[in-house]
Amino acid sequence: MTAISRREFLKVSAASASAAMVPAFAGSARAAAPEPAKKRWYKGDLHQHSQWSDGIYFPERMADFYRQNGYHFICPSDHNFFQSDEFRYQRDWSIPHTPEIHDQDGFRRAFEGATSYWKPLRRENAWAGLTQEMVDEHKSIYGDDSVETRSFEETTYVRLKTFRELEAEKNDPGKFLMIPGFEQTTMPGEQGYHVHLNFINVREAFPTIDPKDPFGILEQNYNKGKEVYDGQDYLVTANHPLWPYYDFQPSDLIRLPQFTLYELTNNAFTPSDSTRVEKAWLPEQMWDIVNAYRVTHDQPLLYGMGSDDFHEMDQWGVGWSVVRAERLEIPDILAAIRAGDFYASHGLAFDDIQFDGKTLEVKIDVQEEGEYIIDFIGTKKDYNPDCEYAEMPYEKGKSLPRKLECYSKEIGKVLETVEGTEGSYTLKPDDLYVRAKIYKKGAVKKDWETEGAAWSQPYRG
Ligand SMILES: [Zn+2]
Ligand SMILES: [Zn+2]
Repeated sequence: MTAISRREFLKVSAASASAAMVPAFAGSARAAAPEPAKKRWYKGDLHQHSQWSDGIYFPERMADFYRQNGYHFICPSDHNFFQSDEFRYQRDWSIPHTPEIHDQDGFRRAFEGATSYWKPLRRENAWAGLTQEMVDEHKSIYGDDSVETRSFEETTYVRLKTFRELEAEKNDPGKFLMIPGFEQTTMPGEQGYHVHLNFINVREAFPTIDPKDPFGILEQNYNKGKEVYDGQDYLVTANHPLWPYYDFQPSDLIRLPQFTLYELTNNAFTPSDSTRVEKAWLPEQMWDIVNAYRVTHDQPLLYGMGSDDFHEMDQWGVGWSVVRAERLEIPDILAAIRAGDFYASHGLAFDDIQFDGKTLEVKIDVQEEGEYIIDFIGTKKDYNPDCEYAEMPYEKGKSLPRKLECYSKEIGKVLETVEGTEGSYTLKPDDLYVRAKIYKKGAVKKDWETEGAAWSQPYRG
């Protein structure tokens, strides 16, 4: 029941976020020249899956779903494929090419002139599958003409809309914006790592490079992206570090300062009891571990994003990013994210965040009665950077053998707590950086994952 009331609350948050106008922002992580233009907050989710991969909804329904629930922008990020016009009937990891069917002339004739992805209907409900029941449900909302099918032998194929078609239908200037992209996804074997990266604002995918270690996957796919998207304006995010078994760790991002975006909260994923190791990190601690190192070594800050990673209904409305930009246009949204002018949320909203090079000032956008807390969190210059290791308890089918990185709890300490809806913190000479986390008094568990909160980006002097 709490889930339902929380959803209702999130919808209210969304509506209110869309109405909020904010004054000009004085700078990103480092002090910058004041912006003359008026900016406002735009709420978005840059990570969802539709029937193009393993999400439950047809792509147009997913776009409508976000559009109708107060989001301003989304990036449908299906696994390993961009929703292009190219004709397809298979996916490399769920529906193989079967020569005795797909190489027949009859099959070719059945799909003559076809564009886009034709997903075969399955009789059984299975992972990444499309069933008649799903098609019927879609038709009940969008009408019988909304689903185009072709058949060959025993199988019915359903055409999915391409990104080009969706953006033409769904984009609404100033109100809703679709950003193209995909999720680069390793599909590991039994001992492997699930390391995923979103490429945002690209219109083609490239084959996943999987050297079977997290650092290599991140580095090599990032580098390949640089080559493939040379000259394009795009972003890369490192997704869900904790899922499913701490699959990449702080040291991977410490060694890869080219990654400036990661998912701080990805549908509020929590490790199960069998894999949780108290001494090891959670994504919020990972953030501080990486940033303490980066500030010390004069490297770019790591910014935290919120994402739904929507596949099913219970993954909706649990993580989003709110971006401050002048216009709801792709270059503006990308530039603001790149500059760190956004915050991550899974329940609360900032009315304002200002940093003048020394003082971080935040104001909560109060959407529900209650007492609010602002924690200013940071790390001191003399922190202990040493890393120890703990073994994750291994249980066949429930975890994998992993050595988990454990760092000093001095990293990412609460520097000051303010009770109320406005607060500020001025960097002290021994502070590396400061960031703000907001939550409701008494309503939040001490970890990052379970109750409404929002996080500013870190700011250094
Ligand atoms: Zn993923
Ligand atoms: Zn995903």
